[in-house]
Amino acid sequence: MRLSQILIQTLREDPADAEIPSHRLLARAGFIVKTAAGVYTYAPLMWRVVKKFAQIVREELDREGANEVMLPIIQPRELWESSGRWERYVTDGIMFTLKDRKGSDMCLGPTHEEVMTDFVSAQVNSYKQMPVNCYQIQDKFRDEIRPRFGLMRGREFIMMDAYSFDADKQGLDVAYQKMRDAYCRIFDRCGVDYTVVQADSGAIGGAGSEEFMVIADSGEDAILFCRESGYAANVEKASSRLPSAPDGGEPQPLEKHETPDVKTVAQLEAFFPEWVAGRMAKTVIYKATFAEEEKIIAVMQRGDLEINEVKLVNAIDALNVELASDEDIEKATGAETGFAGPVGLSEDITLLADKSLKGRANLLTGCNETGFHCLNVNLGRDAREPDYHDLRLARAGEGDPETGAPLQEARGVEVGHIFKLGTKYSEAMGATFMAQNGKPTPFMMGCYGIGVSRTPAAAVEQHHDEKGIVWPVPIAPFECVVAFLDKKRKEQVELAEQLYEDLRAAGVEVCLDDRQMSPGAKFKDHELIGLPIQVFVGRNAADGKVELLIRKGLQKTDCSAEEVVAKVCDALAAGRQ
Ligand code: ATP
Ligand code: MG
Repeated sequence: MRLSQILIQTLREDPADAEIPSHRLLARAGFIVKTAAGVYTYAPLMWRVVKKFAQIVREELDREGANEVMLPIIQPRELWESSGRWERYVTDGIMFTLKDRKGSDMCLGPTHEEVMTDFVSAQVNSYKQMPVNCYQIQDKFRDEIRPRFGLMRGREFIMMDAYSFDADKQGLDVAYQKMRDAYCRIFDRCGVDYTVVQADSGAIGGAGSEEFMVIADSGEDAILFCRESGYAANVEKASSRLPSAPDGGEPQPLEKHETPDVKTVAQLEAFFPEWVAGRMAKTVIYKATFAEEEKIIAVMQRGDLEINEVKLVNAIDALNVELASDEDIEKATGAETGFAGPVGLSEDITLLADKSLKGRANLLTGCNETGFHCLNVNLGRDAREPDYHDLRLARAGEGDPETGAPLQEARGVEVGHIFKLGTKYSEAMGATFMAQNGKPTPFMMGCYGIGVSRTPAAAVEQHHDEKGIVWPVPIAPFECVVAFLDKKRKEQVELAEQLYEDLRAAGVEVCLDDRQMSPGAKFKDHELIGLPIQVFVGRNAADGKVELLIRKGLQKTDCSAEEVVAKVCDALAAGRQ
């Protein structure tokens, strides 16, 4: 390919809305062009990257016997009603919906469990036809609250989504493991540093799920991990050893103290010096949203620990929770924010507590009276016993749940998610097959996603320097570029053409930069675009000499024209390692 024929428009300036390196660099190198918030055009070079990554995904899934299909983007409401998800997705606001000319509701697929389940259940009638695994690589639509970071969080983005159908749980376990292995090969092949972490499986249930995280400071997810034990989990899901706290001793009589303007744990520690945070219980008031109603709930946590809101949502099977407003708190507790507690809490308000509080004596808590706190609160005696759940946010430095070794924290970009669904969708949708025992049985399903547009952006997040992108060889738009520096010098043009042909003949994915621009501008462009190997044919062409540049580390060497093919092939082989 000749770059004069490819639409390439690099920019001098970073776009104003670009906060992270991959967004900045992909936009400045002209790879992506914004059409609307979270909606991008993939310019020719970017599209080559996406196609190369998609090809890696295809090869590894096909190796496991998965079938590539193409499902419709536009989906009827009825299908989403059959799984019971229409209402939830519409209320969430995540789904783009529209009406056809007859007034029927449709949506643009944010995900495809329903369509795929409907499709497969019409094709597969007997256990003898399984296992089945189908996938597609297609645009998804989600009206994200905060579209940002370029391709990282789009409203239209490309996903590979796969769905496995098995007769029983053992079948699902095998299908899941095969996909997990395929995912590892995919991310190994495209040269990103990633970690597989335990993930929250949300309201769908405890069947288990894992996320593939590309480690990067700009990642929106926090991960806790321990190198020694191999434990790694999304902080939404993570657990840790419970940090110790001083024992409360034998139950003492309840005391009520005036604590004017003392509201936070830190203020209470200053006010009652002998009561450290570990002897307190804070009570946080939340507004919980359920399918049918909203409820104000009270959640207790030990003063030195934090509440994990994802665990809280799962524990009460809510759609989501948010901190209650000062107004709602006052209405629910009769006190200003900062004084809520179990003592004297209205029976109408659900009271939950983290397990760390179970059996702890003589706590310091609020008592739902502005300007007062209680000492020596004993749950069950001075207040009702709450419902205990694991609601604790694990934190870096706390012990690994198994070994006790300290957990470390890193940021990650979720590039893939694999999930044991079980029969949630097949049961709801009445999707059954004839089992070996002759009975209609719901399919045992798994679902699996990869961010096909997000992963290349995550790769840039890991592979760049202050000059520009440093593409990993397997997903680079071209492996190599040969560029002449002066179009008017015949010997340069001829040598460049020759090297371009030689490299092509050697199987290198090479392009010829035959654009007419100043040498300085050409060098700069290629620093930014970041093709792995760059061959510049300049002044020394007359002596059969060129300059070879390896983009990683910007290592330059002079080499003779005869050596170019061998050197490029060696450098590419090294880059693929
Ligand atoms: P997130 O937590 O980042 O919102 P998710 O868990 O909702 O993602 P899934 O439904 O698991 O996403 O989608 C599968 C994969 O699709 C994700 O692992 C991610 O790589 C990609 N993906 C999800 N949402 C987006 C988006 N808005 N833009 C780009 N890629 C996305
Ligand atoms: Mg996910």
